[in-house]
Amino acid sequence: MSVVKRPSQKSKWYIPGVLTGLGITIRHMFFNLLHRKDIFTIEYPEERYPYSDRFKGNHILTVKKDGSLRCTACMLCATYCPAECISITAAEHDDPNVEKYPISYEIDILRCVFCGLCEEACPVDAIRMGPEHQTAALAGSRFVYDINKLAYRPNLKGGVLSHVDDEERKARGL
Ligand code: SF4
Ligand code: SF4
Repeated sequence: MSVVKRPSQKSKWYIPGVLTGLGITIRHMFFNLLHRKDIFTIEYPEERYPYSDRFKGNHILTVKKDGSLRCTACMLCATYCPAECISITAAEHDDPNVEKYPISYEIDILRCVFCGLCEEACPVDAIRMGPEHQTAALAGSRFVYDINKLAYRPNLKGGVLSHVDDEERKARGL
């Protein structure tokens, strides 16, 4: 049996509660206006929070010294990706020293969980996760990042060089 209590006359009288809440809000507003340095929020986008270099944000496909992609289309990143959001199409390279390269490399960023496993799995430092975190876009298709976006977007200034360069690869007899 459920017993529903009638609300007391006192609890029906809500104006004191509203005024108390308003008083707390106004108190905090004036505190924040007078102690702007002590508040934790920042005025984004004018102010940006400095994320650590280790922050795993938007992906970057690194490049060789000649500007071509470092990726060898080995598929390790796509295999390890738990969200199955990486799709790669491989092709034979004209250079007999290069087995394969990606003619298409896409990441569906809306499915990505930013776990970093692709970066960990890559044997040649061809994919990294950088400090960028703004992924807003107006159209759904803008959330599928292709090679141009991953390797040559303007803020990468021509591409990020891979640590594994051609000389090292040759020296290791790969
Ligand atoms: S960060 Fe994780 S989920 Fe995102 S592409 Fe890499 S492996 Fe997949
Ligand atoms: S990014 Fe690295 S792991 Fe992924 S296909 Fe290219 S070389 Fe392989």
